[in-house]
Amino acid sequence: MPHDTPLVATIVAGLVLAFVLGALANRFRVSPLVGYLLAGVAVGPYTPGFVADRALSLELAEIGVILLMFGVGLHFSLKDLMSVRWIALPGALAQIAFATVLGMALGHALGWTLLGGLVFGLALSVASTVVLLRALQERHLLDSERGRIAVGWLIVEDLAMVIALVLLPALAGRTGADGPAAGGLASLLGGPSLAATLAITLAKAAAFVALMLIVGRRIIPWILHYVAHTGSRELFRLAVLAIALGVAFGAAQLFGVSFALGAFFAGMVLSESELSHEAAAETLPLRDAFAVLFFVSVGMLFDPAILLRDPWPVLATVAIILVGKSLAALAIVLMFRHALGTALMIAASLAQIGEFSFILAGLGVGLDVLPERGRDLILAGAILSILANPLFFVVLDRLRPWLERRGGAADAVAQPAAPAGPPVPLDLADHAVIVGYGRVGRLVGEALARAGRPVLVIEDKSELAGELRGQGIAVVSGNAAAPEVLAAASLARARLLVVAIPNCFEGGQIVEQARAINPALDIVARAHFDAEVEHLRGLGAGVVVMGEREIARAMIEHALGRPAPA
Ligand code: AMP
Repeated sequence: MPHDTPLVATIVAGLVLAFVLGALANRFRVSPLVGYLLAGVAVGPYTPGFVADRALSLELAEIGVILLMFGVGLHFSLKDLMSVRWIALPGALAQIAFATVLGMALGHALGWTLLGGLVFGLALSVASTVVLLRALQERHLLDSERGRIAVGWLIVEDLAMVIALVLLPALAGRTGADGPAAGGLASLLGGPSLAATLAITLAKAAAFVALMLIVGRRIIPWILHYVAHTGSRELFRLAVLAIALGVAFGAAQLFGVSFALGAFFAGMVLSESELSHEAAAETLPLRDAFAVLFFVSVGMLFDPAILLRDPWPVLATVAIILVGKSLAALAIVLMFRHALGTALMIAASLAQIGEFSFILAGLGVGLDVLPERGRDLILAGAILSILANPLFFVVLDRLRPWLERRGGAADAVAQPAAPAGPPVPLDLADHAVIVGYGRVGRLVGEALARAGRPVLVIEDKSELAGELRGQGIAVVSGNAAAPEVLAAASLARARLLVVAIPNCFEGGQIVEQARAINPALDIVARAHFDAEVEHLRGLGAGVVVMGEREIARAMIEHALGRPAPA
């Protein structure tokens, strides 16, 4: 009976409908997000038929947020975070301030109190983690400079919201005493109890970060390595999930920081471990499933009737999110002398609102500072901005050739943080491109270098790329599956491509793109299963070396008493 098992019903209805509508959306060449959101509307309380449990679906969505942020943390080192602080910190704060003022102005026009307007404005100022990360992941931008800025920005916003959430009840109490309308700005700020609440919040967040960086950084990788040595894949998978969810939950319970922030730090302390790639892979399927539930839960909150009931305020809200916030972000990033392309990408990724806005709106209504209408406007703004977000990126993709033409020079100025070393020589020709400089790629690269062959490396780990650059090796830093990373390797003029990464899915994407760029290229790829050999050959690899078969060959040589190959 569905009503006896609301959790099961919510998960099943959410996933099944999201799948059906997502596939339909895909068929009509629109983003599957649209399908997921509509699935939410369909199982929501405002449309007839089955109604899923709203509170449960929001909690399920939180798991998606945790796993997503954990995955981002795995890609992020402390160094990466620090390298973007000069733009992310002032950028996020200025953007929050700007959007909040716009929201307050709208609140004022609608006759709300100052505090009501403040809550409304803050809710409009913070972007959704899920929407932003999905957009970046889809475009392989997470590991790029601009992706790092966007994530740093998101983390600052997250921290600001954690502070807002704890301060709000204190503020509401203060203005509640002398009537909401009498709560002027002077009484909103200042006062000993407020300052104390703020200090305690910041101290708790700082204590959490310090604990993670000092203790967590040693213990968490140790646990994972220990489990990896047991040889049980199931235990390893469990360990990764336990760490991601456990740290996020503990951080929220004990230190009052958000789940997202807790998960991010859990991932970040693991990012230096060589197991981080595996840990990321283990959480992928669950992460995707729960991220879908996030969109379903947003759809569920949406009452389509508001579009008819309150059209102008809805329009104004959406304009603040899409136009106001983007223009502020654009101006700030440009002010920091980044290229127009970077500025547009960051503005586009932040032009939406999501989970934090709902939490803030819910709290505001609960404390009686935000009118219900404010919450409805926030929900409408969220769903419409999430729907519009992919369009922003489509426009950006169209603009890309133009941006690249005009942005080349500006980008050079824009990336002072890039590690020093010889740039990729533009006149490289007849060279070998090696993707991945790990256990396999390194040996190949060293042998080619000894033979005097020109080599260019594409490596995902930024620290490793920096190290190689220091040794005078030509390196493109980033995920080779991303078209712009691959394009930097001058494949059209290369002679050989060695795809030396263990992941066959990514390897396939690389081989396919490389073959399209250069039909004459000699492509060698790495595989671990027979099916992978077929797959890579089918996509255009000339030679596919299966690791396990080569290991067996060496073992056979040994067993039969012949000299082992070097
Ligand atoms: P190993 O498995 O030890 O040969 O290491 C593989 C290497 O390839 C590691 O250094 C990874 O950082 C790198 N790598 C994995 N995937 C990619 C990718 N898609 N693009 C560039 N480098 C990658």
